[in-house]
Amino acid sequence: MVKFCSLFSGSSGNCLFFGTEQTKILIDAGLSRKAIFNALEQIDQKPDQLKGILLTHEHNDHVRGAGILSRTLDIPIYATEGTWKGCMPVLGEIDEKNMVCIEADKPFEIDDLCIQPYRTPHDANDPVGYCLLAEDKKTVVATDIGKMTRALLKWFEKSDLLFLESNHDIEMLKIGSYPQKLKNRILGDKGHLCNEVAAKTVAYMVKTGVTRVVLGHLSEKNNFKELAYITAVNEMKKEGILPGRDATVEVADRY
Ligand SMILES: [Zn+2]
Ligand SMILES: [Zn+2]
Repeated sequence: MVKFCSLFSGSSGNCLFFGTEQTKILIDAGLSRKAIFNALEQIDQKPDQLKGILLTHEHNDHVRGAGILSRTLDIPIYATEGTWKGCMPVLGEIDEKNMVCIEADKPFEIDDLCIQPYRTPHDANDPVGYCLLAEDKKTVVATDIGKMTRALLKWFEKSDLLFLESNHDIEMLKIGSYPQKLKNRILGDKGHLCNEVAAKTVAYMVKTGVTRVVLGHLSEKNNFKELAYITAVNEMKKEGILPGRDATVEVADRY
């Protein structure tokens, strides 16, 4: 059975676990080794079973612990060329055999996992999201997305599980304490996805057959779990979808 678990999700650190019986990986490793090992223990997973780390982009909240994990466990890191360039100073020295350069739109395999990286609109060098195909199930990881596009919706189609960013409530962000420059960045086309757009995306994807959505990468200051959840549920109801019957929506904990 395929297992997906959000260990950490949000601006203070991101790390997702994905695995089949045979192959276990992390997507991003934006926390300390200790924090990640503890979180793995809580879901009964052993760090030495991990086969690799996929990075979405070079921002600190996604890569902070990747270097030390690669060195400790002697496992490869998979990242685009731009991401490698951006995160080398943070990662420290990585064994050459553990540096794998991937490209958007070029699928690759790790044992029984087929992984399809796709481009995301975000203010990083060469950011990607991932479609993970294993045991006839499709899991899509989609965070750090400035705007929703047709191309992205296409990648989400027919997923069995969609992990989607629902970063902020626009009004909370606007009246909040962030400096204007940061607000503009988050609201921009290469920033983060707001609850409202995430909710519309969820309703649309459920109509096309997606039955399980997990909302993630919530902002600490400009969102809260209940708000992200209720925004999605209201949008689904508007479209005649009954949450719980037609699809399940959950919100990932930040910790
Ligand atoms: Zn980012
Ligand atoms: Zn992020």
